[in-house]
Amino acid sequence: MQPASLFPDTRLQDVHRRLLEHYGPPEPRDLWDPLTQMIYSMLSSRTKTPVSHAVLAALRARFGTWENLREASIPAIEDIIRPVTFPEPKAINLKAALIRITERHGSLDLGFLARHSTEKIRTWLEKFEGVGVKTSAAVVNFSTLRRRAMCVDSHHLRIVQRLGFVNKAATAREAETRIMEMTPDDWSAAMLDDHHSLIKLHGQKCCTKNDPRCPRCPLRDICPTATA
Ligand code: SF4
Repeated sequence: MQPASLFPDTRLQDVHRRLLEHYGPPEPRDLWDPLTQMIYSMLSSRTKTPVSHAVLAALRARFGTWENLREASIPAIEDIIRPVTFPEPKAINLKAALIRITERHGSLDLGFLARHSTEKIRTWLEKFEGVGVKTSAAVVNFSTLRRRAMCVDSHHLRIVQRLGFVNKAATAREAETRIMEMTPDDWSAAMLDDHHSLIKLHGQKCCTKNDPRCPRCPLRDICPTATA
């Protein structure tokens, strides 16, 4: 075991506390089963959250079950998911994933994942085309699996780069590794989810991509890239 540092790095807790005070507690998440979360997360990259939710609802309304979605043609799927970015590759990847899960496991029931370690589940998920580190983290953390992981989306990556927690060229995987190193061991999966939600909200409302509002940012005095 590593000896405890005389000067533990508590910047992540500080950021969490400040954002919690500033924005208030995030809405409790409605936990979905892992397959629904996987489908949602495969659809949602580079797409606004309300659009992704509307498209998931439209898929349910059109196909009724995920088995019916699996049997649908790619043009039919693409037609429903057209509001998300890159609908064509997403339709192809979604159908391919549903077929492959069924071929390998006999059904679309992902209940078996609960018997495996988080690392093993994420490795399994990331073998599907269209599933990267962000989606695998979302599936294990946001679904009923409720495992410890940090979903690093584009807001999160930008903010931890600006805060100097990772370098400017860091990938989402590198950022997640660093964030998890900075995270207290006693933070539950739900707390990690809350942290993700707070950072995402901060990226939408204050630390935006093109126009960060540094003068009114609650992290201004601890941010090395704050502007006047
Ligand atoms: S001070 Fe500016 S750059 Fe730093 S986190 Fe706040 S908004 Fe982002």
